[in-house]
Amino acid sequence: PGGGGSKAKEEKIVVTVRLRPLNRKEQLAKDQVAWECVDEQTIAYKPSPQERSAQPASFSFDKVFGPTCVTESVYEDGVKNIALSALMGINATIFAYGQTSSGKTYTMRGITEKAVQDIYNHIKNKGTVVEKLVEETASDDTHLRQLISVCEAQRQVGETALNDTSSRSHQIIRLTIQSTLHENSDCARSFVASLNFVDLAGSERASQTHADGTRLREGCHINLSLMTLTTVIRKLSVGKRSGHIPYRDSKLTRILQHSLGGNARTAIICTLSPALTHVEQSRNTLYFAIRAK
Ligand code: ADP
Ligand code: MG
Repeated sequence: PGGGGSKAKEEKIVVTVRLRPLNRKEQLAKDQVAWECVDEQTIAYKPSPQERSAQPASFSFDKVFGPTCVTESVYEDGVKNIALSALMGINATIFAYGQTSSGKTYTMRGITEKAVQDIYNHIKNKGTVVEKLVEETASDDTHLRQLISVCEAQRQVGETALNDTSSRSHQIIRLTIQSTLHENSDCARSFVASLNFVDLAGSERASQTHADGTRLREGCHINLSLMTLTTVIRKLSVGKRSGHIPYRDSKLTRILQHSLGGNARTAIICTLSPALTHVEQSRNTLYFAIRAK
């Protein structure tokens, strides 16, 4: 639709990185900022004055959002095209991946809000390709936002009871979008697609294993779904020759099976803490992001 689609528009997997500002606690603890956004696509490790000789390592992605970037820009430049493809019958999934406290929930809340608004705007707009969209459970965006807050409230109940469930559990908001495209008075095509918003468990849950698969003897338990997702995304990004894709190895990937790979489109927003004390986890997140590409 629309014509003239750039390459980025059609990409199956778009990987972006969002670096949040230092929070109050980190500022009070005089933590250092360890990363800088060199340009719109590159983030680099900023060596501290003591290690001035160290070569700054830099990493490139489809887009890098710095600490002053608002969620609206993350949506516009990293998610919008993928989210709206669900109006044309293409399954789409938006993930936030990163360690606990890096900004996954903050980012996904804003993204979901913007996407919902955008989708409903497209239904009202005259002249867009989408003539009619029927959402069975939500009559308008206000109603949908209410449904989403019910979903978030449920997760928060779990969080209080178990003290930090959100770092261990995944949250999926799935919209099923049924749309009809009226090409002319006697030709109409109908589409159904899922649009998924996924706020993942803290990525530190996936990094407790050695490269050879043996476990580190640390208290943190491993999140099987997160590990399987990592494998699935990596295999999908390698392409057809990657062989068997283990969707069925975890609940999360089973649920998302039809929204990952094939014709589906995926946006992964990797969230990073800027703090020097988190530099190891930030590196792990960037390595995940590179492999996803
Ligand atoms: P996570 O879900 O990854 O554990 P949160 O989204 O809860 O992390 O973010 C941790 C804290 O940092 C929250 O207080 C949140 O408001 C704040 N925060 C996260 N990202 C940003 C950002 N880009 N700008 C400002 N504050 C942020
Ligand atoms: Mg969270």
